[in-house]
Amino acid sequence: MRDASVLISGLGIAGPTLAYWLLQHGFRPTLIERASRPRSGGYVIDFWGLGYDIAERMGLLPDLRACGYQVRELRFVDSRNRRVGGFGIDVFRSLTQGRYVSLPRSDLARLIYGKIDGRCEIVFGDWITAIDQRESGADVRFASGAERRFALVIGADGLHSAVRAACFGPERKFETFLGYAAAAFEVKAYRPRDEDVYVSYGTPGRQVARFAMRDDRTVFLFVFAADAALDLHDVSAQKRALRTAFAGAGWECPQILAALDACEEFYFDPVSQIRLPAWSAGRVALVGDAAFCPSLLAGQGSALAMLSAYVLAGELASCGEEYARGFARYEDRLRAFIAEKQKGAERFARSFAPRTRLGLLLRNQVTKLFGIPGLAKLVLGPSLLDRLALPDY
Ligand SMILES: Cc1cc2nc3c(=O)[nH]c(=O)nc-3n(C[C@H](O)[C@H](O)[C@H](O)COP(=O)(O)OP(=O)(O)OC[C@H]3O[C@@H](n4cnc5c(N)ncnc54)[C@H](O)[C@@H]3O)c2cc1C
Repeated sequence: MRDASVLISGLGIAGPTLAYWLLQHGFRPTLIERASRPRSGGYVIDFWGLGYDIAERMGLLPDLRACGYQVRELRFVDSRNRRVGGFGIDVFRSLTQGRYVSLPRSDLARLIYGKIDGRCEIVFGDWITAIDQRESGADVRFASGAERRFALVIGADGLHSAVRAACFGPERKFETFLGYAAAAFEVKAYRPRDEDVYVSYGTPGRQVARFAMRDDRTVFLFVFAADAALDLHDVSAQKRALRTAFAGAGWECPQILAALDACEEFYFDPVSQIRLPAWSAGRVALVGDAAFCPSLLAGQGSALAMLSAYVLAGELASCGEEYARGFARYEDRLRAFIAEKQKGAERFARSFAPRTRLGLLLRNQVTKLFGIPGLAKLVLGPSLLDRLALPDY
């Protein structure tokens, strides 16, 4: 494109991946992030499939492996910490031929950021307030008062995307709430520790997991049933909602909730999906959660965010001045694949944190059976493997 300027809103996973690939193809990306610095926090994510392949193409694998953990087991426990279900994670490694790593979401975000830091303009602590699309470009106004023109604007600003709200419509039109909320935080010096094991405790409609990390840190993930998407933007209200949901839950919950005051980064969101009739409008397009959030329970949000960024950059590069054709080809390539992932996540939500005692019992018994050779492959294989060939650009 003659004007190769692209404004990307959001420096999570999709935004910096897109900036990286746009740079490779000769574009001039500018990233804008509302937070005052790169955001850390979040739980440990399992990373495999096409996201893993893209990370390899970005030269990230050695660092990802160095930050990663060789998780051995997912262990469901009862209130006295006795094992009541779960399975060995080796099954994932064998299904993916070893191309699988578990690592903190914050490490993945930091490593991708490291690939673009110093190579393009990155603005922190500012955000878009208006986008005015014209024949020759998109005029963008920022909260800081600045006004600038870009050829294209991409929303990579997550589940609650402001670019989507400005150019496509309000969130409620596109959000499908899956009936749960999730929270994550990490603390220092928590005891007990179980190295390389996800330890998870559940009561009907409530699930909490802990994972011991290096440097004496422990990260916790909470998932709990909620009747409506909790639209809580204030952190103290979010912490209150979490405390209320897990009051009287037993196991280590009182001591974990007591540690909540000491955490620095706190992640809290409804477990929701985003479904849009189109991922672009004029000079504006969306990637990652902003376009198609598969929900936290898909287990692949970051990998799919990277995939969408990689494909969008590649298609724009292939289409020269015809950015609208690039946007359309990006969507054609991915829409059916993403819809399948969303369907899988919807099915999985109910079994992750069952709402009844019977449901919990069933889940625990089924996961115990995964020890039988071949069974885990049969049950997990179809949703684990990505059936899409990664294009070369
Ligand atoms: C701090 C944090 C912790 C997370 N923890 C988990 C987790 O434990 N488990 C899990 O499955 N998923 C987690 N997620 C979500 C996960 O990262 C995404 O589902 C997935 O990686 C898709 O990435 P994304 O880049 O599309 O969105 P995100 O990773 O959500 O990134 C969006 C970015 O946009 C920024 N932003 C938001 N609004 C604006 C705006 N108006 N202007 C400019 N910038 C804006 C945000 O600050 C953020 O940096 C977390 C996200 C964040 C931000």
